[in-house]
Amino acid sequence: MSTQLFTNAHIATGMPGSTADETAPVQDILVEDGRFVEIAPDLTDRLSIQGKDMSTVEVTDLEGKLVCPPFCDTHLHLDYVFTARKPGAVNESGTLFEGIQRWSETKSDLTVEEIKERAKIGIAKEMRHGVQFIRSHADVTDPNLTSLKALLELKEELKDTVTLQIVSFPQEGMYSYEGPKGESGADLVEEGLKMGADCVGGIPHFEQCREFGERSMHTVVELASKYDKLIDVHCDETDDPNSRYLELLSALAYRAGIGARTTASHTCSLGSADNAYFFHLTKLLRAAHINFACAPTENLYLQGRQDTFPKRRGITRVKELTEAGVNVSLGQDSMQDPWYPLGNGNMMLILDYMLHLAQMMSFGEIDDALKFLTVNGATTLGMHDAYGLEAGRPANFIVLDASSVFDAVYERCSVLRSVRDGRTLFIRNESIDTDLALLKR
Ligand SMILES: [Zn+2]
Repeated sequence: MSTQLFTNAHIATGMPGSTADETAPVQDILVEDGRFVEIAPDLTDRLSIQGKDMSTVEVTDLEGKLVCPPFCDTHLHLDYVFTARKPGAVNESGTLFEGIQRWSETKSDLTVEEIKERAKIGIAKEMRHGVQFIRSHADVTDPNLTSLKALLELKEELKDTVTLQIVSFPQEGMYSYEGPKGESGADLVEEGLKMGADCVGGIPHFEQCREFGERSMHTVVELASKYDKLIDVHCDETDDPNSRYLELLSALAYRAGIGARTTASHTCSLGSADNAYFFHLTKLLRAAHINFACAPTENLYLQGRQDTFPKRRGITRVKELTEAGVNVSLGQDSMQDPWYPLGNGNMMLILDYMLHLAQMMSFGEIDDALKFLTVNGATTLGMHDAYGLEAGRPANFIVLDASSVFDAVYERCSVLRSVRDGRTLFIRNESIDTDLALLKR
């Protein structure tokens, strides 16, 4: 049996009020065989008193730094990463719809190996920023299902270091796409589920007409029920306040009893819809327990493109949904792809943008902000008992270069260490070399 003790940590579970204050007492983390046994003050002394042979315990001093559960990126497209500069892929207008067009025109030469190589670089970037759980979409509007094959292989190959959930995602529509043999996007989504994808995807606002979009929402819920899968729909990713597939998705998932297993991604239209509509809709969202995934940097970039001024911010109502008790998590979405030229997997940056855009900057909101990257993300992913700083659960955690949640957010701090099943995945050493007393930390 291997025993590890991580000492002197400020603990932020991600739940409200945890480590808002750097004066909170430090705690120790006891791990045995890759699982948390106990998190409490003075465990070193207690173990000694209990007669534990401390020479058999691997002790790591965390020096008062902040420990929280690993970050979750709940919306990413690993098959698209680092394709932005391919010939023909450059998105001149900066709109979502030109991004889809550019991808459609340039995706035919993809291979499983090439996608895996790019995706691995993207995963490594995310992991260096403390991410251990990623939900990635895989475009299945391709008769060869190349993206899905690549990401399913990676999911298996990397399972000991990162958890990947894969969405069978019809980028070019369930009923607007037609393959060379007459396959619909819906047929290919179903094929993807049979191959092992975790979630059913959709993109109703991109379908050619409202009827196709509505039909796709029925199909998504039917497929999720039939194959016992999660749902993650690109939903209402538009400034059009009349794009209202979220209400249909929520109602259908609610009636099927799978609302808590459903995620509505983007939902930018809620940022344009009026308050009376949102007030009515909120009741359904709460009853259905729908999860939301918001991609603040990307939607800030893509949306509002038809506006002059005033120009809309493009993101969904994170503050209002949160205040209504609806679960919201965050995603990087893109890394240098036809939809967004930047994106480096730094979820602290994504959080920073969201807090500004949603105006969630009371001290209470900042003190609780890590929930968006941790427990809220785990809720979206349906992780349940496999996640969190609690006895019996896998010893997965990260160490931030701060001693309180406020300082972590304020400094947009780095991740100093990432631990998975008790195994340290990396350690980052950061110091400034200077003779200037003013600049010494
Ligand atoms: Zn997306």
